[in-house]
Amino acid sequence: MSKSPASAAQYRPETRLVHSGTLRSQYGETSEALFLTQGYVYASAEECEARFKGEDPGFIYSRYSNPTIAMFEQRMIELEGAEAARSAATGMAAVTTAILAPLKTGDHVVASRALFGSCLYVVQDLLPRYGIETTLVDGLDLDQWQRAVKPNTKTFFLESPTNPTLDVLDIPAIAEIAHKGGARLVVDNVFATPIWQSPLALGADVVVYSATKHIDGQGRCLGGIILSSEAFIAEHIHNFMRQTGPSISPFNAWVLLKGLETLGVRVRAQTDTAARVAEVLASHPKISRLIYPGRADHPQAALVKKQMRGGSTLIGFEVKGGKQAAFRVLNALRLARISNNLGDAKSLVTHPATTTHQRLKPEDRAALGISEGFIRFSAGLEHADDLIEDLTAALEKA
Ligand SMILES: *Cc1c(COP(=O)(O)O)cnc(C)c1O
Repeated sequence: MSKSPASAAQYRPETRLVHSGTLRSQYGETSEALFLTQGYVYASAEECEARFKGEDPGFIYSRYSNPTIAMFEQRMIELEGAEAARSAATGMAAVTTAILAPLKTGDHVVASRALFGSCLYVVQDLLPRYGIETTLVDGLDLDQWQRAVKPNTKTFFLESPTNPTLDVLDIPAIAEIAHKGGARLVVDNVFATPIWQSPLALGADVVVYSATKHIDGQGRCLGGIILSSEAFIAEHIHNFMRQTGPSISPFNAWVLLKGLETLGVRVRAQTDTAARVAEVLASHPKISRLIYPGRADHPQAALVKKQMRGGSTLIGFEVKGGKQAAFRVLNALRLARISNNLGDAKSLVTHPATTTHQRLKPEDRAALGISEGFIRFSAGLEHADDLIEDLTAALEKA
């Protein structure tokens, strides 16, 4: 196998998205090959022994590594500016591993309360079962992060922008509090995408993605990835993943690898569309609140400018008239489809109070700003004018 000449940091992100990590077989294929194989055969018993000893860097078994998966990981490493990465079958496999693998009974985790539902389950329900304490804080309040630190605090965990209310948390400031307290910061960067935010450069220690979202971006397969220093992967992640097996399928890794080639153009186009839709919704009489990280009226607009390179493909808005009005709007949409997914080529709308966040107590939803009229809109690749016409027609029904 020969390496792509572009596997070097001298290239700009757009170029890395297309070329980084490519391994060419003896056939010189243009498009990356799909190695749909469980295992590998060896030329000799000596070669096999050397590989198991780690003296020969080749592949052993696809639960450990695979050429197609290696290409996906390397492309993500070079895009994110990480030293190492391990991919996983889903975003949640990546989040669970990144949080759980380095911890033991008696450790303490601090996390922002505004989390994707399954992430909240991991920190709030799962960790305490193994004697790992969790403190949930209002991620916007730096004092709460500071006050939550204890001698046994090992991990800080956050998402930014948050789901679904699109608050933007101060990653450099929170990283500093974590590091002073002897903890690491793990950032779920799904909503920002690697195009608009690089948490490692902002001081985070570990970045996780659900590659299911923008990285695939075309609704086909699930996937996840953990990116960090070589030392973190070697010490905490490598052996845990090899032995417990949350491995991604080479087929899914191939889909995601090809998804990366168009990630930049898709995220830029979807962000431009989201900004245009937000502009129309901002002054719409049927809407009481609009949140869009790319706008000057976003509550953390200054921070968005400082730590992100662009806005978001997502918009949050509140329809006047609560759940009934929100449902009437969702049911009247013809183009944007009702879904709990996001980051797709097709525009998707979600009612968080009855789907992604229905597990929460009503008072906890209220504290997060998830009202009964709140809708999350994920801009796709359709023409912005078609989406605006669809939304404004549906809002007439509110
Ligand atoms: C979807 C999502 C996840 C989980 O990813 P899966 O691929 O569905 O397992 C985790 N975090 C965030 C912010 C997400 O949006």
